[in-house]
Amino acid sequence: MIKTLNHLPHPHENAAALAGHFTDLAPPLNNRQAHLEASRCLYCYDAPCVNACPSDIDIPSFIRNIHQENVQGAAQKILSANILGGSCARVCPTEILCQQACVRNNAHECAPVLIGLLQRYAVDNAHFSEHPFQRAAATGKRIAVVGAGPAGLSCAHRSAMHGHDVVIFEAREKAGGLNEYGIAKYKLVDDYAQKELEFLLQIGGIDIRHGQKLGDNLTLSELHQQFDAVFLGLGLAASKQLGLAHEEAPGLLAATDYIRELRQ
Ligand code: SF4
Repeated sequence: MIKTLNHLPHPHENAAALAGHFTDLAPPLNNRQAHLEASRCLYCYDAPCVNACPSDIDIPSFIRNIHQENVQGAAQKILSANILGGSCARVCPTEILCQQACVRNNAHECAPVLIGLLQRYAVDNAHFSEHPFQRAAATGKRIAVVGAGPAGLSCAHRSAMHGHDVVIFEAREKAGGLNEYGIAKYKLVDDYAQKELEFLLQIGGIDIRHGQKLGDNLTLSELHQQFDAVFLGLGLAASKQLGLAHEEAPGLLAATDYIRELRQ
């Protein structure tokens, strides 16, 4: 129970029933469902779903891979565009991005291809014997990344792939940023943010230092002196204030603070 909510009446449901409300919001597709769903894709030329995807994933190609039962190939395509493709498949608002743009999303069919669930199917069911990306020859360059959220981690992984050595400076105890602290639990179950982090770090060449906060015990000028490049992935941790009186009253929490307390 969140301490600041202790004054509220306790729920009537027991702990197990309450926990049931935080299970997977969109359960995964099984093999048969994924195959059938993949067969609905028209593999459009100049696909509108790709144009609507902020991470530029080659959606028709990975769906074709699934249809051809090449799940490994599908996952490799997704992850090469977006190393956090697993969490994005779970939390991305596909209904207003790729799936809204899908040509199957029309009055006659009433349903787009379920791109998010297919992406999750591919990433979850690909079993790589080793990390699917290799590092290039060492460049001797050192990169500082401030913030171990999705942007910082993605930058670190791609920099490591290019042969640079990366140090991530993170203020909090855990890496993952929004995925770890700010996404509702029913969207990212089973400690997925940490599992994805472990996978990402398999590339090697990435060191994470916790308890390092810019403007507190870390300065930009120091980083510029010690590193060849600095990437600021500071994230969007602050919630918008409504500007109402007594917003600091007990029991009132900003949305992301509320989620963080529930998750940790
Ligand atoms: S727009 Fe829809 S049908 Fe066309 S390639 Fe994308 S997912 Fe497939």
